[in-house]
Amino acid sequence: MTNLLPEMAETWQQTLNWQPNQQQQQQFQQLYELILEGNRQLNLTRITEPEEFWEKHLWDSLRGITPQKQIIPSFSGNASVIDIGTGAGFPGVPVAITMGKCKITLVDSTRKKINFINEILTKLTVTNAKTVIGRAEEIGHHPQHRENYDVALIRAVGSAIVCAEYTLPLLKHGGLAVIYRGNWTEEETKSLQNAVKKLGGKISAIDEFITPLTNSIRHCLYLQKIVKTPDNFPRPVGIPTQKPL
Ligand code: SAM
Repeated sequence: MTNLLPEMAETWQQTLNWQPNQQQQQQFQQLYELILEGNRQLNLTRITEPEEFWEKHLWDSLRGITPQKQIIPSFSGNASVIDIGTGAGFPGVPVAITMGKCKITLVDSTRKKINFINEILTKLTVTNAKTVIGRAEEIGHHPQHRENYDVALIRAVGSAIVCAEYTLPLLKHGGLAVIYRGNWTEEETKSLQNAVKKLGGKISAIDEFITPLTNSIRHCLYLQKIVKTPDNFPRPVGIPTQKPL
């Protein structure tokens, strides 16, 4: 098998103070190949060039959680993690590959994507992740999921305010939502603050960083659950996007 993905050992080390072991590197490689193959039938991702895939899918997924040990103390242990709107498996699959002790639930509303991820998990022998087909607005009220997670990840699913409404109800008291964003502004922080307060959370950090290959600016927003989310959140399907808080 030709290794299509760059290994980037030094860059991993310099930027995240971590690098994949041989098995994890092979799993990343397999993940890349399976996504290229799956893309022929399903519209999984437009990011298909090897370096772009490495930076925008692998590195970006892990950048949100790895270096922030003080922000995400739960990641040093057996955290329960949920990834909402995981699509082709980002950020959840790279996180599952990397954080073997965590238990990860990958959620998407599209059955075809979840079927595809199930195949990936089997082929990569990733055993610490499971999938759920569903909408965040419904899962957020399900007793099996509500207030059940230490960490909730969400990338490219909607505005930050919508993402807050999807994730905060799922967190245990003290749990953390990680919202992956491109650009971010002060004004956005103010309106997010109001919404997060209604949902029982607070903004605990906004992390701006530069990606290592294309020098793009990105942000991760970290929201902490500080009091119980009122029972009416998340609102019914479609309302969070139609009438953002
Ligand atoms: N998180 C992935 C990434 O960053 O590559 C996929 C992003 S893709 C643009 C958005 C995904 O969120 C789609 O797969 C879609 O089916 C899913 N999605 C959108 N709204 C959702 C909702 N309310 N509940 C669950 N999944 C949702």
